[in-house]
Amino acid sequence: MKKFSLLLLLCAFFLIVFPSEGSAAAVQSKIILDGKEIGMPSGVQVQVINENVMIPIRVVVENLKFKVDWNQKTQGVMIQQDTKIITLTVNQQSATVDGNQVVLNTAPQVKNETVLVPIRFVSEQMGLLVSWDNVDKTVYLTSGNKESINNGQAGVDTGEVTPTPNVPTPPPTSVPGIDGSGQTTNPLNRLNGLSFVNNQLLVTLDGAITPEISRLTNPDRIVIDLPNTNFADSFGTIHPLDSGLKGKLDLSGYPNVSEVRYSLFTRDPYKVRVVIALNAANAYQLSQDSDSKMLIIDLNASEDSNTIPPLVPVPVVPSGHKIVVIDPGHGGSDPGALSISKKHEKDFTLAVSLKVQSLLLKESNIDVVMTRDSDTYPTLSERAQLANRLYADVFVSIHGNSNPSSKPSGTETYYYQRSSSKDLANVIHKYLIKATGLSDRGVKSNSLHVIRETKMPAVLLEIGFLSNSSDELMMYSDDYQNKVAQAIVNGIKEYLGVK
Ligand SMILES: [Zn+2]
Repeated sequence: MKKFSLLLLLCAFFLIVFPSEGSAAAVQSKIILDGKEIGMPSGVQVQVINENVMIPIRVVVENLKFKVDWNQKTQGVMIQQDTKIITLTVNQQSATVDGNQVVLNTAPQVKNETVLVPIRFVSEQMGLLVSWDNVDKTVYLTSGNKESINNGQAGVDTGEVTPTPNVPTPPPTSVPGIDGSGQTTNPLNRLNGLSFVNNQLLVTLDGAITPEISRLTNPDRIVIDLPNTNFADSFGTIHPLDSGLKGKLDLSGYPNVSEVRYSLFTRDPYKVRVVIALNAANAYQLSQDSDSKMLIIDLNASEDSNTIPPLVPVPVVPSGHKIVVIDPGHGGSDPGALSISKKHEKDFTLAVSLKVQSLLLKESNIDVVMTRDSDTYPTLSERAQLANRLYADVFVSIHGNSNPSSKPSGTETYYYQRSSSKDLANVIHKYLIKATGLSDRGVKSNSLHVIRETKMPAVLLEIGFLSNSSDELMMYSDDYQNKVAQAIVNGIKEYLGVK
């Protein structure tokens, strides 16, 4: 029973998600197993079906070295390694693992006389860690040792520990699984994003979390352990993540911080470790937002504190970088407007915002912070307070418009009162009109929470009408989203005077 619920969770959480819509597509993709690229048999290609990466069964046999039996008559596949047995059937979403039934997200399929199976499901069942880099279109498989995949490097962060003050326990996460004993088990949490801005580390997660924070010496560092957490699939598309599931943030301008590194520290249980490496001892203050999905570890503090004060502005160490806060409208329980073909505004806003983020990450003089980087709902006041707390230079909220009539089409840009906001609105709007080719509905003033309560130049963009079928068709296309993202970035850079 325990296994059954765990597998359901695996199906639910371990999908390899692509940002684009779409059914089946062959992709030029690489598979890296323990740091070595797997040579693919000739004529064989990875396919993406319903946002799942599918590999030919030959790859499973020849490269992953699992034993495979194919039954032509029943169209059944049996995959075996040691004592573990998976059975799959072509075109059937139901499968078994060691005799227990599980539901697959995408059924195995036959394409060009080749049987395709979902790589994440098969690999994870066989004890491999799977991550996907959407930029390189690369699947990383890690076999590793079960206790600590950092083999020995775990020992780096031992040493003198400053006792951690007590942290209140957050409310239980919303979808507990039930194991055989009737006890609840929490689903695995996902780390979506990390950024270091104004001497503060921002950590965003899918679910509520109680971090374990220790201050260590020799060398000085602050260690943040995120229990029951793995990297989100999208994490590697935004931040460097090597085949050993380690990486570090690109950092400059902070005199007392030498680097911020992160890793999947252990996988049984899953734990992500983030280390702020310091040049000298430094106090920290932990803050969390109301649903405990965003943590801020503030190094501008004068003494250690885990008391979780409200998110209020604090004096900061300037880094010389411009700080841009991108706010993908809506999210989580708030889907925003429903488009004419029943798509959610929150998905459009997130897709465009993530594209803006990845463009801004290439700018060495700009630090970008997202109010959300996954399907979560920070409150409007949390979004504005985050920007205020970081003393952001610019705040941009991204939305799609909607109207009861399907006629209206075009782009609108909003600001509230401040002339700096109006200037920013005019500059971004100019680029948006050019990029979208949609009609110009103008730059307008309106008292909207996030642009009213923020203290820096702030705008809210309504980039096309979800209620208009031709606008909507473009808005969910990759091409339009890329153009819009580039236009927003051009506008921000022009406004900030960043070359
Ligand atoms: Zn909206």
